[in-house]
Amino acid sequence: MVPHPLRSGTSSIQSSASTSESMLPFAGVELGGTKCVATLAYGPRALIEQHTVPTTQPGETLPAIRAILESWSERTGIEALGIASFGPIALNRTSSDYGHILATNKPGWVGADVLGSLSGGLELTTGFDTDVNGAALAERRWGSGRGLDDFAYVTVGTGIGVGLLVHGRPTRGIGHSEIGHIRVPRLQNDLVPSVCRYHDDCVEGLASGSALLARLGNRVLGQVAPDDQLWNPIVAALASMAHALVCNSGPMRIALGGGVPTAQPHLLDRVNAALLDSLNGYMDLPPGPYIVPPELGELAGPLGSIALAADACAARAQRPADAQQEMIRP
Ligand SMILES: [Zn+2]
Repeated sequence: MVPHPLRSGTSSIQSSASTSESMLPFAGVELGGTKCVATLAYGPRALIEQHTVPTTQPGETLPAIRAILESWSERTGIEALGIASFGPIALNRTSSDYGHILATNKPGWVGADVLGSLSGGLELTTGFDTDVNGAALAERRWGSGRGLDDFAYVTVGTGIGVGLLVHGRPTRGIGHSEIGHIRVPRLQNDLVPSVCRYHDDCVEGLASGSALLARLGNRVLGQVAPDDQLWNPIVAALASMAHALVCNSGPMRIALGGGVPTAQPHLLDRVNAALLDSLNGYMDLPPGPYIVPPELGELAGPLGSIALAADACAARAQRPADAQQEMIRP
């Protein structure tokens, strides 16, 4: 594990978490496909300590993170723990597999009990969600979604993940949002096979970083100009997904980040324009750019886990009030 140099400063979490001045720091764990980041912080301007652990096997990675959490618990104390994990993950609290990894392609991780391994026995208030839902919550607290109850965070990297907030909370139901796997119309001349092994024409299969590599063939990315036709089906698929988001839960703004848009900033304007074409005047979007870059950059993931901890803490503070409401309700 590699200690990370950290900045310090005042906390911006305390006002929104409805907690006392003596609040302890939050602990967060971002579980990624190649590395996990454990963060002890009050918020973006008050990071205390951070460690990176390689994602190898659950029996190795999870105990290493657990040891960090235990050391923080003993040294400083922890107000609440947030875990933002790669998916798919089980989020039904009443189910026996709550907190486990589901059908991931990642060898060894199917069925891994992430929540139990990291928090079992520590008696901590805990928030658990996908990495992208965590990032959406972090952008809502501190970044491009500030003040918006309805907001989407899209990351286009190896795959496509979408964190979707409705009424200030990540969507629930069968599970977390999987909008990266909705099927979208292919452009007529697009014959490149989908990289999704489940769907021939889903957004991830047509427009992810893996799809981009497939589209490149023998070409080198650095030699592909912004006006190259290679981008057309990628723009079309991302705009179709944004169209679906607008018509479905209607986020007030969409943050579009991840390795592909970050390296190809020309995509953002094109997807915005293609979205307007696609909507064809049927719905009005809020003023200003609708699809924007995330503001938190590489910190969106680690801060996502801190946001989950802060939200769990706020929910804990809210519960007695709810219970009181229940008692006085006729
Ligand atoms: Zn798919």
